[in-house]
Amino acid sequence: MFPLSPISFDVVIFGGGGAGLWLLDELTRAGYEALLIECSALGTGQTIGAQGIIHGGLKYTLGGMLTGSATAIRDMPTLWRQCLAGERAPDLSKTRIRAEACLMWRTASISSQLGMLGARVGLKARPSKLAADQIPGALAGCPGEVFKVDEQVIDTASFVECLRVRLCDRLLLANKDSLEFECSLRGIEAIRVAAGESELTFQPQAVVFTAGAGNGPLRELARLTPGLMQLRPLHMILARGGLPELNGHCVDGARTRVTITSDIDSDNRRIWQLGGQVAEDGVTMNPVETISHTMTELQAVLPGVDLSEIDWATYRIDRAEIRTEDGSRPEGVQVKKEGNVITGWPTKLALFPLLASEIKALLDEPSGLDNSASHLQSFPKPSVALPPWETRERWFSSKEIN
Ligand SMILES: Cc1cc2nc3c(=O)[nH]c(=O)nc-3n(C[C@H](O)[C@H](O)[C@H](O)COP(=O)(O)OP(=O)(O)OC[C@H]3O[C@@H](n4cnc5c(N)ncnc54)[C@H](O)[C@@H]3O)c2cc1C
Repeated sequence: MFPLSPISFDVVIFGGGGAGLWLLDELTRAGYEALLIECSALGTGQTIGAQGIIHGGLKYTLGGMLTGSATAIRDMPTLWRQCLAGERAPDLSKTRIRAEACLMWRTASISSQLGMLGARVGLKARPSKLAADQIPGALAGCPGEVFKVDEQVIDTASFVECLRVRLCDRLLLANKDSLEFECSLRGIEAIRVAAGESELTFQPQAVVFTAGAGNGPLRELARLTPGLMQLRPLHMILARGGLPELNGHCVDGARTRVTITSDIDSDNRRIWQLGGQVAEDGVTMNPVETISHTMTELQAVLPGVDLSEIDWATYRIDRAEIRTEDGSRPEGVQVKKEGNVITGWPTKLALFPLLASEIKALLDEPSGLDNSASHLQSFPKPSVALPPWETRERWFSSKEIN
């Protein structure tokens, strides 16, 4: 190890999930000399584990009300659509789009029908009813109407890769355990961290934590108010094999009974990622119980789909957010500024743009520093995390579960 001279940056960001990368891009375009420090692969955790739906708030209006969450998110599908088409910065046109829209169908209860009506209140991505001949075969046998909602589904790995390529010079892969902050009343004065064989020191004007669940430990290290974050666990389910392509939600009243998103794995097999209520229910169950419960739910909400020759796996993942009094999901993005340290939680990937602009609004103007990132050319750079279906070791056949 050899210590190098301190390098000054306007902003040092910790955490290269979608939130940190979007922010880094926005700050770089605005003339800030900014650096992002990642301790693992980019997107590790929520961004890679997410279902990739660019929500427009529909699922927050299923009770029939335009909630705070729905208001915060309703402009996001249009903004993302423009970025994904390369018509607006950041240019995300290399992101793979898994679906242009989601479907929404319901179970037979009256309450679920009311939910569908409530869902149309005040939103920009409103559901439109599909004609009988447009309803996909997978939904044959489902009672009632099927709606289409213009919420795109993205492959989050290619979204992260898109930003990685553009921002590579400003990314640093560092060893989390080596991290030290030098703190004062102003906040963080200096950052010391090991990257590869070297020990680096940074002098930041401002520091931003967008490290998802890593924000808690980072805040502790920076001696900031403890207990500001909550983790809400999910036990997500993966299905693999002869499945139809399907992206959407089965709603029952104000509840999303199951959310299904589809992809193709590296061996060209169809993957379903299953979330919603089944993943909430699975939190207290082991993988086999969770899969068995999910199979029962799928038989009820998709009676026309044959599940007999499918392989199944699960993954546990926490949603990291600012703490709420009752432990429920916070409405919209959450940002906390303490001295020169800003902590941010997007709550939804659809809200990355909003989080970036809220954080930028809290920063001083760029100082005119130039070329700090050029000192980092020879240091290790983070790669992009693999999606959960590429990292599961244990898959269960339907026969093993039944
Ligand atoms: C299962 C699931 C499905 C979801 N589906 C959707 C969806 O369909 N649509 C939607 O809008 N939202 C969805 N969300 C929510 C969304 O995924 C998250 O709000 C969003 O991805 C959070 O992004 P982030 O960048 O803040 O955090 P993360 O994606 O968790 O990224 C944190 C990054 O920080 C790094 N890190 C951690 N500690 C440190 C440290 N000490 N130093 C440096 N780096 C560190 C990690 O390695 C990681 O790269 C879903 C969430 C989950 C869990």
